[in-house]
Amino acid sequence: MLELSAAAAIAEIEGGRLRAADLFAFYRDRATEHGLGLEIGGLNCFTWIADEIPEDSSGPLRGVPLAVKDLFCTEGVPSQSGSRILEGYLPPYSATVVSRLATAGAPLLAKTNQDEFAMGSSNENSAFGPVLNPWSRTRVPGGSSGGSAAAVAAGLAPWALGTDTGGSIRQPAALCGIVGLKPTYGAVSRYGMIAFASSLDQAGPLTRDVTDAALLLGHMIGRDPCDATSLQFPGAIELPSAERLDWVRLGVPAELQRPGADFPGAEVQPGVRSAFERSLRLAEDLGATVEEVHLPHAPHALSAYYLLAPAEASSNLARFDGVRYGLRAEGARDLLEMYTRTRHDGFGAEVRRRIMLGTYALSAGYYDAYYGRAQRVRTKIAEDFREAFEGVDLIVTPTSANVAFELGEKTADPWSMYLSDYFTVPMSLAGIPAISIPCGLSGDGDGGGPSVAGLPIGLQIAGPAFSENRLLDAAHALEGAIGFDAGRARV
Ligand code: GLN
Repeated sequence: MLELSAAAAIAEIEGGRLRAADLFAFYRDRATEHGLGLEIGGLNCFTWIADEIPEDSSGPLRGVPLAVKDLFCTEGVPSQSGSRILEGYLPPYSATVVSRLATAGAPLLAKTNQDEFAMGSSNENSAFGPVLNPWSRTRVPGGSSGGSAAAVAAGLAPWALGTDTGGSIRQPAALCGIVGLKPTYGAVSRYGMIAFASSLDQAGPLTRDVTDAALLLGHMIGRDPCDATSLQFPGAIELPSAERLDWVRLGVPAELQRPGADFPGAEVQPGVRSAFERSLRLAEDLGATVEEVHLPHAPHALSAYYLLAPAEASSNLARFDGVRYGLRAEGARDLLEMYTRTRHDGFGAEVRRRIMLGTYALSAGYYDAYYGRAQRVRTKIAEDFREAFEGVDLIVTPTSANVAFELGEKTADPWSMYLSDYFTVPMSLAGIPAISIPCGLSGDGDGGGPSVAGLPIGLQIAGPAFSENRLLDAAHALEGAIGFDAGRARV
């Protein structure tokens, strides 16, 4: 069962060679044995695991179980967004995507650990402890959907849901050697997702391969009357079939070649660079053309993102006041003290930092200088992409400048942590879809250095709004040519 992708498991169930209940029990047992807390030797990738085996499903996904990031509301099941302030919170309803997938035949197997309120790139900001990377247990899985990525890579769940605000699906997918797709903003309903930055948050699949990503996404998309920013996707998501890339002009953004020039410390590791270049050559072998494109404002994306996302977060997180949800500090003498003590005790250091940054950026005297300016940069970045897509079909970059780093390596230096998002935030600000697929391992004789040898590297492919089908097709063709074997991460 472990060898089966989700699509292959569906075929086995449909062919009567596998029972959905057995598959569910198999994954539930593996999740319980290897996915719980660090004190029992687990990866700490789950915050909750189902104990009951659901009834067989007649839906097209045939009962293949799904792991879901903690921040998706799931009726009667703890939904805490990785935060102490929501510890034990049991929502009275489920997020639209979770219910859509359950109806389609993907029942809830487990909730996955994450950075608190999805703020982070290493999963070390969770109130429930860090997640370990199954490729190397002294290293981070990436974040903020680190629990979902580690669970899929380790073979503790066939597939998982994550969310991506500035890279939180793509970067952990890259660091764990799996596929992660951030859809076009609005393609998937945000209803029932505990908000971080509402103009950026988007749910998407984390899967073993590109076909599974298409399969899961196909049942997530569509307008939802409960989310006014959701849109009807034009057409359906097709299962990818392309093996050639003759139909693709790939663009490599000139301005994103040397992150270290804009942000000292953000250099692309040599192993990542060579895996990226190898992928471009493979794309050419499959018939693609590769050319340089320009995204003149993209180097400013990180600065704009780290104003806009905290600004929205400071507003979204105002609702956690000790009155309506979760934690309430005891023994306060008045209402103000109750608010401040609850928020002090309930939020971790990174969340408090973002609330302070965001509140400052939105304050009357500074609003135009910071928030207003960042919004204008965001518009410029979206325009850059629109112009670039007049000359090429898809844009490619490494997903992350580095492979999985050591636990604790960047926790004392938020700035170096924020650099993890260098390649992923431009697409988030533009609202366009992007996928990360594994494109090799570091240290395969490519100068990656022995300390990082054998760790997965991600290739990011981005396209215009609603180009998911083309993106998946291109990723599928490249996946075939790359021939990445993720088996080593399975526990
Ligand atoms: N690492 C980024 C941040 O900390 C992105 C997080 C995300 O996409 N949720 O904000």
